[in-house]
Amino acid sequence: MQHSMIDDSQSGFWRNLALWKKILLGMVLGVIVGVIMGPDAEVLKPIGTLFINAIKMLIVPLIFFSLIVGVTSMKDSRKMGRIGLKSLVLYLGTTAVAISIGLGLGTLFSPGDGISMVAVEAAPVAKEAPTLIDTLLNLIPKNPVAALASGNILQIIVFALCLGIALSRCGDPAKPVIQVFEGLAEGMYKLTEFVMKLAPFGVFGLMAWVAGKYGADILLPLIKVIAVVYIGCLIHVLVFYTGMISFLGSLNPIRYLKGLVNPASVAFTTTSSSGTLPATIKASREELGVSKGISSFVLPLGATINMDGTALYQGVCALFIAQAFGVDLSFMDYLAIIMTSTLASIGTAGVPGAGLIMLSLVLSTVGLPMEGLAIVAGIDRILDMARTTVNVCGDLMVSVLVAKSENELDETVYNREGVRGGVPMSAAE
Ligand code: ASP
Repeated sequence: MQHSMIDDSQSGFWRNLALWKKILLGMVLGVIVGVIMGPDAEVLKPIGTLFINAIKMLIVPLIFFSLIVGVTSMKDSRKMGRIGLKSLVLYLGTTAVAISIGLGLGTLFSPGDGISMVAVEAAPVAKEAPTLIDTLLNLIPKNPVAALASGNILQIIVFALCLGIALSRCGDPAKPVIQVFEGLAEGMYKLTEFVMKLAPFGVFGLMAWVAGKYGADILLPLIKVIAVVYIGCLIHVLVFYTGMISFLGSLNPIRYLKGLVNPASVAFTTTSSSGTLPATIKASREELGVSKGISSFVLPLGATINMDGTALYQGVCALFIAQAFGVDLSFMDYLAIIMTSTLASIGTAGVPGAGLIMLSLVLSTVGLPMEGLAIVAGIDRILDMARTTVNVCGDLMVSVLVAKSENELDETVYNREGVRGGVPMSAAE
């Protein structure tokens, strides 16, 4: 009897613990067990491999369905087309800058130097780098089914965008199909949630194996990764975004920073840009003076495709893993990371942990070992807080610039002193 009471309270404790705390616990226990067991901890590694395989399982359908739904949810019209194009250029351009900042800081601070890890899963043999023209021609899948089957992400993104645009142009006959895709996208979000429940165990298994092999010295570099990602995020918002607001928008950057306080704090705590959307829309209208039309189109689009913080994080982590495993990256590898992260950010869902899944994609593009993913997974929540905040600040910045260029920014609201707080309104409003 007493025994079962203890069991109940233990499972209750586990059930009530937030996922990120479980993951952190998995990491700490993994390190302790690994240090005690030494190299024998390798027996625990399959638990981690199971988690990594489950993550890989999500990538193709998650990108495919969420992108189609993202595109079909845009209501079509000429103005939408123009605003959509402006937003897209700004979203992708700023993402490329973000990842370059990540790569720059990752090179400067070299968080992975000093650890020498050996990949068990051999990195794919380096292929002859394709030319730029080949890369561009290859964006179009000759056979979309083959692209899906072989997991060619760039081709999948292109096909999903084209199919999404075509479906939304079809009107009524395509509506049932769009609903099916919406259902599938929801299903993939749920499945992501399930897989993330495995994270504490996967992280435990991999950290035990890593700590068993390399000792507890692995922790210091992880603290460095956190510091580098946070510094990068601060630079991106405080220097780059405010610069864009001042130079492209000729607006006061301090007002922009004040206006984003509410949604930024929601993003930081929820680590979901989709979940923050109501607060983001409210702030863009009430604090920054963006019109309803612009904010209700540009911001949901941004929550789906604009992930500057995620891209920055991927740059830092890819370099960290390359340094830790002693892999030399060529200039072409850097370009491949920039391109993959930028395009992958389109397919990253605005939900907690999605960036980690996409990191596996970036790693496989340049042939970096997947074990690196598990090491970063232990601190992912802390990194997710910063990157989601940047994702949301980026969406707001673009909404202000697009509104300004369309003469749909109420500058009296934008320049008004003080932040009006309040309960986030519904996104549907
Ligand atoms: N959590 C992020 C977001 O919602 C995505 C990510 O994991 O990078 O914006």
